[in-house]
Amino acid sequence: MAENGGKNTKVIVIGGGPAGLMAAIQTACRGREVRLLEKEPEPARKLLLTGEGRCNLTSTLRPVEVIEKVFTGASFLYSALYQFTPEDTRRFFEDRGLRLKEERGRRLYPASDRAEDVKKVLLEEAVRQGVEILTGVEVKEIITSGQEVREVKISGGRAFPARAAVLATGGKSYPGTGSDGSGYRLASRLGHNLVEPELALVPLKVKENWTKEAAGLKLKNVELRLFYQENKIFSSYGEFIVEENKITGAEALRLSCHITGPDYHNYRIAVDLKPALTGEKLKRRLQRDFDRYSNKHFKTALGDLLPAYLRPVVVRLSGISPDRICHQITAGERESLVRLLKGIELNVTGKGSENEAIITAGGIAAADINPGTMESRIVRGLYCTGEVLEPAAYTGGHNLQIAFSTGYLAGSQIN
Ligand SMILES: Cc1cc2nc3c(=O)[nH]c(=O)nc-3n(C[C@H](O)[C@H](O)[C@H](O)COP(=O)(O)OP(=O)(O)OC[C@H]3O[C@@H](n4cnc5c(N)ncnc54)[C@H](O)[C@@H]3O)c2cc1C
Repeated sequence: MAENGGKNTKVIVIGGGPAGLMAAIQTACRGREVRLLEKEPEPARKLLLTGEGRCNLTSTLRPVEVIEKVFTGASFLYSALYQFTPEDTRRFFEDRGLRLKEERGRRLYPASDRAEDVKKVLLEEAVRQGVEILTGVEVKEIITSGQEVREVKISGGRAFPARAAVLATGGKSYPGTGSDGSGYRLASRLGHNLVEPELALVPLKVKENWTKEAAGLKLKNVELRLFYQENKIFSSYGEFIVEENKITGAEALRLSCHITGPDYHNYRIAVDLKPALTGEKLKRRLQRDFDRYSNKHFKTALGDLLPAYLRPVVVRLSGISPDRICHQITAGERESLVRLLKGIELNVTGKGSENEAIITAGGIAAADINPGTMESRIVRGLYCTGEVLEPAAYTGGHNLQIAFSTGYLAGSQIN
């Protein structure tokens, strides 16, 4: 075995996703020899799925604004995001010939709308910098001595000597792409603490059976309030989609970031269909509508207040017969209708599967990693980057930016 840190010993990058590729490129361009080990037949398979195949690779936000989009482990990322900013990501790709375009929410995509082109730039640059890429090679163990990285052992028992190693194995969502959570095991075996990895940006399962009939319904301009037991813990405004005993779409995915199992039954969502109106205003508004349509059916009277697609759901949940004549509706029924419009209840029963989760939040505890270098505080010469780490962000290109920033920082620090 070559002596650790010896001249001929390479830096080993474990995992060929965006974090691993960026770390490999940055290490190699500083003159170090790099070998990247990827367990799948090709690197960066997940990258091809990103942004529905278009890859929202970063944003035009400033680092401090990206930090606001990180819902767990945000403070850990300051150094990385300031050393390799969204602007640096933009320049990295544009300098290598990839034209980018900005879309709603200050999201950046390749002008070609092809995630494949993002992957191509990373792979071509890695090859140009002399990174040796081995595919179909699964890392089984990182071997240390004296709390320092020595070797990286792969399936079949072979071991590669390593002057340093970068763990860039991603999370555990979409395991078919290769990110199956093996990095958590590799790190915890070396004594790292794990913040329980949780699927996030994932659809939520809900108890209410009315969702079955309403499946396919998209609710727009609503406020979703998330309660844990009786405490409101998060709220968001926007749209979500109803499916059978499930909700998905932008705001449902955001809410999922604030739900941790296994006690899902303690989480409840209240959907405010009229967030712009206070309960009092809504009550007066309903009274006006019911006066105007006093001899008409209840379902008709809701016509001014709610879009057509929502009316059947509200009528059903109100328990008031759609054909009741408006002037027969009691004050008590009006009160409960207001309560319903201000908070349709959805009880959480779980999360969608790992094949539906965009990311995994949690992972290697930020406290075990030096945020200025990405080096482990437990094993010298081991650097951890990307989604395998604890921090995680909402959608908007931020998770890829985190992968690039942490990968770049590690690559800049390896000796
Ligand atoms: C459907 C979908 C859409 C998404 N869209 C976006 C988006 O538009 N914008 C955005 O910012 N983020 C998006 N994300 C999230 C983003 O893809 C991830 O956060 C990002 O890929 C993480 O990069 P990574 O390099 O840390 O890990 P990964 O991309 O997961 O790469 C890890 C690599 O390590 C390899 N590996 C794992 N274990 C081993 C092992 N033991 N030995 C060797 N190799 C191993 C895996 O095969 C994989 O290639 C999306 C995710 C999904 C699933």
